[in-house]
Amino acid sequence: MTDRKVGDLAEVLDNLGVFRSSPDELVAACPSGFRRVSIAQGEGYYLSLQGFAPGQPAFAHTHPDSEEWVIVLRGDGKALLADNPIPLTTGMVIGRGAAHPHGFVSGPEGLHLLSMQLPRPAEGATTWDQPGETTEPIECAFAGTCRRCPRCGGHSLNVAARTFMCENCSLEF
Ligand SMILES: [Zn+2]
Ligand SMILES: [Zn+2]
Repeated sequence: MTDRKVGDLAEVLDNLGVFRSSPDELVAACPSGFRRVSIAQGEGYYLSLQGFAPGQPAFAHTHPDSEEWVIVLRGDGKALLADNPIPLTTGMVIGRGAAHPHGFVSGPEGLHLLSMQLPRPAEGATTWDQPGETTEPIECAFAGTCRRCPRCGGHSLNVAARTFMCENCSLEF
């Protein structure tokens, strides 16, 4: 047994015992920024799903304290690691050592990834290596309006008058 964190997908197992879903139902993509759903996390690990609409970036960043394994559940795109972009196809597995800068960009089919980070990156340890950019606010299917996070590329909802907050890295802008 692990400790459940409120909002993690693993919470459903306390009630259901067994759970089954398609990645599309779990991480519905939005045209503004990529989305992330946490499955389970603890001091030593962080398992999450990421969903990209077509042509969506996750801006390059570095977790100096955490290794990561990524499995492509569906879709296409590129992993941007150092100078060698790696084409992504369904079922591909990619490992990345700590301290390697990395980013993603989805292809025309969009992209669903399972990410396993070992251990969970510490708060504040991530560095952002690429000047990102935001998008204009759009009507969001999930609530109100949303934009792209200029730091990580994540889906960011309008939380106050003109303030948006990133679902992925918590940046407010
Ligand atoms: Zn949205
Ligand atoms: Zn962000």
